[in-house]
Amino acid sequence: MLIKNILTQSPMSQDVEIYGWVRTKREMKNLVFVEVNDGSCFAGIQATFNEPDETLANEFASLTTGASVKITGKLVASPASGQAVEVAAVSLAVLGKAPAETDGDIPAYPLQKKRHSLEFLREIAHLRARTNTFGAVARLRSSMAFAIHRFFKERDFQYLHTPIITAGDCEGAGAMFQVTTLSAKEAGQWAKDFFGKQTFLTVSGQLEAETYAMALSRVYTFGPTFRAENSNTARHLAEFWMVEPEAAFADLKDNMDLAEEFLKYIIKSALEECADELAFFDTHVEKGIIESLGQTANAKFTHVTYTDAVRELEKNKSLFEFEPRWGCDLQSEHEKFLTEKIAGGPVIVTDYPKEIKAFYMKLNDDNKTVRAMDVLVPRLGEIIGGSQREDDYEKLCNRIKEAGMSPKDYSWYLDLRRYGTAPHAGFGLGFERLIQYISGMANIRDVIPYPRAAGQAGL
Ligand code: ATP
Ligand code: MN
Repeated sequence: MLIKNILTQSPMSQDVEIYGWVRTKREMKNLVFVEVNDGSCFAGIQATFNEPDETLANEFASLTTGASVKITGKLVASPASGQAVEVAAVSLAVLGKAPAETDGDIPAYPLQKKRHSLEFLREIAHLRARTNTFGAVARLRSSMAFAIHRFFKERDFQYLHTPIITAGDCEGAGAMFQVTTLSAKEAGQWAKDFFGKQTFLTVSGQLEAETYAMALSRVYTFGPTFRAENSNTARHLAEFWMVEPEAAFADLKDNMDLAEEFLKYIIKSALEECADELAFFDTHVEKGIIESLGQTANAKFTHVTYTDAVRELEKNKSLFEFEPRWGCDLQSEHEKFLTEKIAGGPVIVTDYPKEIKAFYMKLNDDNKTVRAMDVLVPRLGEIIGGSQREDDYEKLCNRIKEAGMSPKDYSWYLDLRRYGTAPHAGFGLGFERLIQYISGMANIRDVIPYPRAAGQAGL
C-alpha cells in the first residue's frame, strides 16, 4: 500500500507493509526510529522498532538515508507530535543500500544533508525528486495537468493533438530548432531532406488548433513546445509545455473571461488538492503564497489597454531600467510594476500595437492596435498570451505580407477565412510559468523534471 493510503485510510491496529526510501534514522538505546517516504504524498511515515531483534543488526547498519526498504508492522497512534500515526515495526528488509560513505567506486549517496541548494540539486536532476521540494513540485505538476484537462472537459473543449514537427515558422515567435536528417555536408539542401523541405520543432500549436476550432467549435492543446531562446532568464526554457485553448464564435472579451475563469479554477484546485505541498512552499519557498493565491482566486482581474498601461508606466519612468514607450514591448520590470504596484493583483493588458504582436491577431478599427491580451501576474509577469484572431481574408493577407511572409505559404490558414470564417479567439499558457506562480519557485528550471535551456540538455 502507498504511504498516502496508509495515512488516510488504514484503520488503527491494522498490519501494514511500507515500502519507500529512508529519510532519517535515529537510534537510541533499545529504540530505532526510521522516517520513510515513498513520494505518494508530502508526508512520510515513521516506523518505530522497540527493542529490535538482534538478528536485525546487519539491516540497521545499512539503513541509511536514501536506502530503499520494506518494513512491516502495526499501525498505531503516535505519541510524537506532528504525526497522528506511526508503525510499530516488526520486520525490516533493506532492499537497496545507499551508502553514506564512499564505497569502492560507488560515491556516497549525495542527498545526505537536509537542505541542499537548488543549484546543486539541478546537477543531480535524476535524484532531486527524492527531496521535499522536488517531490512537491512533481505532485503539483501532475495535479495541475489533471485539473487543466478537467477544466476544459467540463466546458466541452475537445483535447487536440497538434504536430510537433512543423514546416513553417508558425508565428514568428522566437527562434526555432531545425529538424533534419541531412549530414553536415548536405546542409541546406532541403529538397534532399527527410521531409523534402525544411522543418522545425513547433513553437506553438495554435495555427493548427484554429483549423479544428473552426470545425469542433472548442478545442485545446496541451503539449511540448520548443523555442531556441538564448535568453538566460528564470522564466524561459527551450522546451516547455503549453496549454492552448481555441474557441470559435468567441471574441476578445470571451477570451479574457475564459482566461480568468481558467486561472482561478486551476489555483483553487491547487489549494484544495495540494494543500500539503502548498503549506511547504509557503514555509520554505515563498512566504504568504497561500494567501496571495487565495486572493487571486477570488479577485476580479484588472483590465487595462496597452496605451493606458504605457501612460501609467511613463509617469513612473525613473523606476525602470528600460524606458517605457508606446510601441515598445513591455519589459518584465514593467509587467511586474503593473501587477504588483498598480493593480495589486492579476492584470489583463489588451490592444497592443500591431508591430509588436503576431500577424494573426485581429486588427482594431484604429488600424494601429490588435485585439491581443496578455495576462500578467505578480512575481512573474506574463503567464498567458492570447488574442482574437483576424477573421477577414483581405486583412490577414495584408498582415502576412507586411510581416515579410508569403500568403502562398499560409494558404491552408487563409482557407479558414475563405470558407465559413467566424470570429474566434484563444490563448497560450506556459505550464511551467503556471507551476512557478503556484509554487513560488523562483527559477523555471526547478519546476520541470529535466530542464532544457541554452547549454543544458543532459539529465
Ligand atoms: P515572453 O514575452 O515572456 O517571452 P512570449 O510573449 O514570447 O513570452 P507567447 O508566444 O505569448 O510568449 O507564448 C504564450 C505563453 O507561453 C507565455 O505567456 C508564457 O507563459 C509561455 N512561454 C513563452 N515562452 C516561453 C519559454 N521560453 N519558456 C517557458 N514558457 C514560455
Ligand atoms: Mn506573449
